[in-house]
Amino acid sequence: MTQHAGHLEGPGEPGSAPGAAAGSGAGSAEQFQAGRSPVLDAAQLEVLRRYGREHEMAAGEVLFAAGDATYDLIVVLAGEAGIVERLGQPGETVIARYGPGQFLGEIGLLTGQRAYLSAAAATAGRLLRVPAPQVRVIMAQEPGLSELILRTFLLRHAILTGRGSGLTLIGSRFDAGTRRLLEVLARNRLVSRWLELEGSPDAEGMLRELDVPVADFPLVVVPGGPLLRNPGNRELLDALGLSGPADTDLPGVCDLLVVGAGPGGLAAAVYGASEGMVTVLAEDTALGGQAGTSSRIENLLGFPAGLSGEELAARAALQAQKFGVRIKLASKAVSLLSDSGVHRVRFDDGDAITAKSVIIATGARYNRLPLARLAEFEGVGVYYAATQMEAQACQTDPVAIVGGGNSAGQAALFLSRSSAQVHVIIRGETLAASMSRYLIDQIERNPRITVTPRTQVTALVGKDQLEGVELVETSREQRSALAVRGLFVFIGAQPSTGWLAGQLAQDSHGFLLTGTSIPQAQLGDTGRTPLFLETSRPGVFAVGDVRSGSVKRAASAIGEGSMAVRLVFERLQATGSAVADPPRPGTEGSGPRSNTMPGPG
Ligand SMILES: Cc1cc2nc3c(=O)[nH]c(=O)nc-3n(C[C@H](O)[C@H](O)[C@H](O)COP(=O)(O)OP(=O)(O)OC[C@H]3O[C@@H](n4cnc5c(N)ncnc54)[C@H](O)[C@@H]3O)c2cc1C
Repeated sequence: MTQHAGHLEGPGEPGSAPGAAAGSGAGSAEQFQAGRSPVLDAAQLEVLRRYGREHEMAAGEVLFAAGDATYDLIVVLAGEAGIVERLGQPGETVIARYGPGQFLGEIGLLTGQRAYLSAAAATAGRLLRVPAPQVRVIMAQEPGLSELILRTFLLRHAILTGRGSGLTLIGSRFDAGTRRLLEVLARNRLVSRWLELEGSPDAEGMLRELDVPVADFPLVVVPGGPLLRNPGNRELLDALGLSGPADTDLPGVCDLLVVGAGPGGLAAAVYGASEGMVTVLAEDTALGGQAGTSSRIENLLGFPAGLSGEELAARAALQAQKFGVRIKLASKAVSLLSDSGVHRVRFDDGDAITAKSVIIATGARYNRLPLARLAEFEGVGVYYAATQMEAQACQTDPVAIVGGGNSAGQAALFLSRSSAQVHVIIRGETLAASMSRYLIDQIERNPRITVTPRTQVTALVGKDQLEGVELVETSREQRSALAVRGLFVFIGAQPSTGWLAGQLAQDSHGFLLTGTSIPQAQLGDTGRTPLFLETSRPGVFAVGDVRSGSVKRAASAIGEGSMAVRLVFERLQATGSAVADPPRPGTEGSGPRSNTMPGPG
C-alpha cells in the first residue's frame, strides 16, 4: 500500500514538522505547540468581540461540520472545544482541543474553502463566533491580530497537510486523470491524501464501501461533500468552494483583467484594485504561480528568514480580497480578441471577460526531460516542485535533483531536511555559473547533499513506483545507476503564451516583447511607441516571467506587476477611458475606489 498521508495522532499532539510550509514558524516543540494554539489576551479578545457575538455552548454541540460552505472563527471563552475528523463516523478522531482564549480554524476559513473537518464542544461553556466576512475585515484592519491569526492558520495547515486530513483521492498512478488531480491538489496546497489503487488495502476497503465501477476513476471523496468521479479541475474546486465568482457575478466591462495569478499577476491585481480599478484576476491552476511551489524564497526583501511560496500566496490572496479583486480560479485563458479599444478574453470554461486593459502574467511552464516513461511517473516520482507534499511522498528515501539553478538549490536544501541523501545532477562542471553564492555555500556545508557534475539522467527505473534513475557521465560515457524515490526536475521553462495564437510580438523563444524592444515593423504603420511593459497591442501589458528580457525572479515579477498598473492608468487616460465608477475623494490606496493616478512612489 502507498498511503500518502501522515499517521493520525492523539489530541493535542503536534503533527509533522511544519517548517517549510509555515514560513519562519519552525522552532522548538514548545514554540511549535504555542504557535498552533496561542492564547489570546484580554485586549485581543476585546477586539474580536467587536466583530462577533457571544453564545453559550452545550457539551457535544456541533459548532461547524465538514462540508459547511462557510464557517465562523470560533473563540473559546469558557469550556473546551475540539476539531474532529470523521465526526459521527467510524474512525472519528479528535485532532486538537482548545480551551479558554484559544481559537479554532485554519487558512481555508480565509480562502473560502468549505470546511473539511468538524468542530464540536467537548464541554459546556461559552464561545465567541466571528463570521468569515468579519474575519476578513479583521485581517485588513487589525494588524497585530491578523498576523497572529494568519501565522496560526498557516501552521495548522502545515500540520494538517502532514496528516493528510482533508479530501481523499483514489486513483491509479498510471492514470493521467490521477496525475492531473495530484497537480491541482499540490499547486493549490490542498490538504489531502492519495490512496493508490494498486495494492492499497485502504483503497480496496474504501472501494468496497463506495461500490463504484472502475470506469469512474479517479475518485475524490470530499468530507461532508459529494463523491466526485474523475472531476475536472473546475468541478473539483467548485466542490471545495474555491473557484471564485460565477460568471453572472462578474462585472460587464472591468477596468483591468489580469491573466495569471503568480507573484506578477497578484501584485498587478492588488495594485489595480487598491487604486480603484474594477479588477478581475483569472488563474488556471492555483494562486501563487511558480512561486507558490517554492519551499522557501530567501531573497525576497523584508523576509530575512525566508518565506514559503505557500505563505506568499496566502498573504497576497488576502491582500487581493481586502482590496476587492474578483478572483476567478480554474479558468484557463484560451483566446484574446481586441476591438475598438476593449479586450475580450475567453476561458476554457466558456466564460468571457471584457476589459479596458489586460495584464498578461501567465509566466512560464517548466521544461521536461526527454525520457521514456516520464508521463507514467510525473506527479508520482517525478516532480517539478519541492514542497512539503512532495517531501512527504518521498519520505526519508534518497532523491535526485536535475538542474543547477537557484530553484534546484533551494529544493536540495529543503529536501535534505527529510531525505537521507540528496543528489544534485548537473550537466556542467560546477554550480557557480548558474546558482547564487549563498545557496552554493549552504549546499557545500550540507553532508546530505552530493553534487554530481557532467552528468545526465538517461532513464527512469521502477515497476509500480520510481525506484531509481540511470545516469551517464558525459565526458567519459560512464554509465551508473542511482536508487532514488523521487526525481526533481528544475531545468528552465517555456513561456505560457500559446493561448495568444501569435497575435502579440514575441521573441524567438516565444516570450512577449514589450516597450521599445518591439521592432517597429511589428507595430504596423501606427507610429506608436508602446509604453514600457506594454505589448504590441495598446492596452495589453505583459509582466513577470512571460515577458521577454525580464529577470526571472519573484521580486521582479512583483515589481513589474505593480509598475504595470501605473502604465495602465496612463494608457486609459491617453485613450480617454476613465475607470468605471467615479472616485470617492481621499481614499487612494485604501480599498474603496479612486481614479487618481498612482504617484511615482
Ligand atoms: C521551485 C521554484 C523556486 C523558486 N524560488 C525562487 C526564489 O527563491 N526567489 C525568486 O526570486 N524566484 C524564485 N523562483 C522563480 C519565481 O517563482 C518566478 O520568477 C515567479 O513566480 C514568476 O512570477 P510570474 O507571476 O511572472 O509567473 P508564474 O509564477 O509562473 O505564474 C504564472 C501563473 O499564470 C497561470 N497561467 C498560465 N497560463 C494561463 C492561462 N492561459 N490562463 C490562466 N492562467 C494561466 C499559471 O497557472 C501560473 O499560476 C522559483 C521558481 C520555482 C519553480
